[in-house]
Amino acid sequence: MVVPFNQQHYTGKELQYIQDCMNSGRISGDGKYTTACQQFFEGKYHFKKTFLTTSCTDSLEMAALLLQIEPGDEVIAPSYAFVSTVNPFVLRGAKIIFADSLPDHPNADINHIKSLISPRTKAVVVVHYAGVAVDMDPLLTLSEKHGFAVVEDAAQAIDAYYKGKALGGIGNFGAFSFHETKNIVSGEGGLLVVNDPDYIQRAEIIREKGTNRTAFFRGQADRYGWTDIGSSFLPSDMIAAFLYAQLESLESIQAKRMQIWSRYAKALSPLMDSGYFAGPQIPSFASNNAHVFYIVLPSLQHRTELMSFLKKEGISAVFHYLSLHKSPYFGPQYTGEQLPNSDKFSDCLLRLPLFFDMTTIQQDYVIGKLLDYYS
Ligand SMILES: *Cc1c(COP(=O)(O)O)cnc(C)c1O
Repeated sequence: MVVPFNQQHYTGKELQYIQDCMNSGRISGDGKYTTACQQFFEGKYHFKKTFLTTSCTDSLEMAALLLQIEPGDEVIAPSYAFVSTVNPFVLRGAKIIFADSLPDHPNADINHIKSLISPRTKAVVVVHYAGVAVDMDPLLTLSEKHGFAVVEDAAQAIDAYYKGKALGGIGNFGAFSFHETKNIVSGEGGLLVVNDPDYIQRAEIIREKGTNRTAFFRGQADRYGWTDIGSSFLPSDMIAAFLYAQLESLESIQAKRMQIWSRYAKALSPLMDSGYFAGPQIPSFASNNAHVFYIVLPSLQHRTELMSFLKKEGISAVFHYLSLHKSPYFGPQYTGEQLPNSDKFSDCLLRLPLFFDMTTIQQDYVIGKLLDYYS
């Protein structure tokens, strides 16, 4: 049997909505499907203001522009993260200060972040790894005290909560991804959440090539022109049409993923109890959106051996995030301290196949092979 790591799920309405968008004669950005997607997020999660973008990377680039990051500024971010968590800030000339993960969770250690704060700290970016919330309250307290902005890389965190509050809606900015590997997809796609109303007007301008086109279309300006720096961060309304079809099925997609996640947790608990590997941790302040089911092996060698065993059996299990502070790009310029927890997750974390259309037979096969391996 072959079990892929991920497989695309289409809800069935995507083509119909794309066709409808084409029939409307308006396929560029900010059409009716873009509005519908933004209203979905603002309505369901009480986000102040949302902007559909072409990727989470672009959303973070918008955040970096809005925060007016410039050379001399420091931005603190976890090393166990995706390149796009920090690259947008590097593009603005910031110095990245890498924080370690918690010992038992890939999320950033807020106490370590605290030790890295300096008068030059302009922003702290956190990743809600696997859609599990970072402990935001202590971070917000630090941000008030030291006056830095908080950016949530919520790429994996759709429909996930911290103490009942939707992730992406807690910091100054939140950034989501609809890349094909996420729970809700549009191939490539993203969303910027602007929680601080002071930034809304400028966000409209930056997203529209530095023009006041959005205000013009609302009838608030009698012409539009170049008013600020910016770029083109808005997606075609056809992408939004695809995304809207996915969002309409959010509840059933989340329920199904949760069911698969919980089956893994239950079936693999004897192996976790025996100490062969650790399972995913969900702190009491966080919800679970079933984005990733991961295990943490005791060493790189254990992980390599298990992965090649699974591969021989047709199962694709993958790891990700090589510590950014040791990356080929950043490693040579890194002067900070050792980040042992980030390195540990880099070496030892393994993600098991999890996708909407995964069958019980496929999952039982994966579970059976893992049980065999350790018996
Ligand atoms: C997927 C992901 C991104 C990038 O999202 P894109 O939409 O592909 O730009 C950024 N950060 C994290 C944590 C991710 O998982």
